[in-house]
Amino acid sequence: MNCSERTTTYGRKIIKGTQKNKSEYCKILYFSWMVCFVVGMLAGLILSVIISAMRSELVESTELIESNTTETSEPITETVSEVMVEPTVQSNFEPIIEPIVEPTPTPELKVISLGEYKLTAYCSCEKCCGKYALNRPIDENGKPIVYTANMSVAEQGVTVAADTDILPFGTVLLIDGNEYIVQDRGGAIKGNRIDVYFESHEDALQFGVQHKEIFLKEEGGVINE
Ligand SMILES: [Zn+2]
Repeated sequence: MNCSERTTTYGRKIIKGTQKNKSEYCKILYFSWMVCFVVGMLAGLILSVIISAMRSELVESTELIESNTTETSEPITETVSEVMVEPTVQSNFEPIIEPIVEPTPTPELKVISLGEYKLTAYCSCEKCCGKYALNRPIDENGKPIVYTANMSVAEQGVTVAADTDILPFGTVLLIDGNEYIVQDRGGAIKGNRIDVYFESHEDALQFGVQHKEIFLKEEGGVINE
């Protein structure tokens, strides 16, 4: 009995011992699991914090790169704007160039060679104009006003006399590249003859008689041949 009791008590003790050991083991397991869980959670938190920090740094760095690129791109836009300004300056020049290029219309005006003409010179004196030199109207300064045959005021460098049957009044002629206008005529000025007006008789004499190729600017008149 005693043995059995002892055994039973011993057995119970063993059972109790084993139960105690089990419960302690479970406690240890549970504690260790909790520790692992907590450590894992903490590690996870730390990792997440680190990752978020890394991401923010990356974003900042990318923003910096973007800002750097925008800063670097700004000078390019400035250079582009400078380049864009230059064409505007050039465009200011272009209208100036265009009128120079407009000589393309000048072919429309047509400079026609009239061949060689005999050029003489005259002034408003009686030797040159005879009776027409008399009774000229006088201007404010007391100087006689020299009217041409088409009632223009004679002007040196502009007025020429021509055969108005060939070159009517208003015809623009090119003599040595200078423009003259047919504003006068004379009894001796027929055919291929031009009389060039000078203000002084001396200058007219100095001009003498010349033979030159004359050109017609078509806008001034039409040849009536
Ligand atoms: Zn004269």
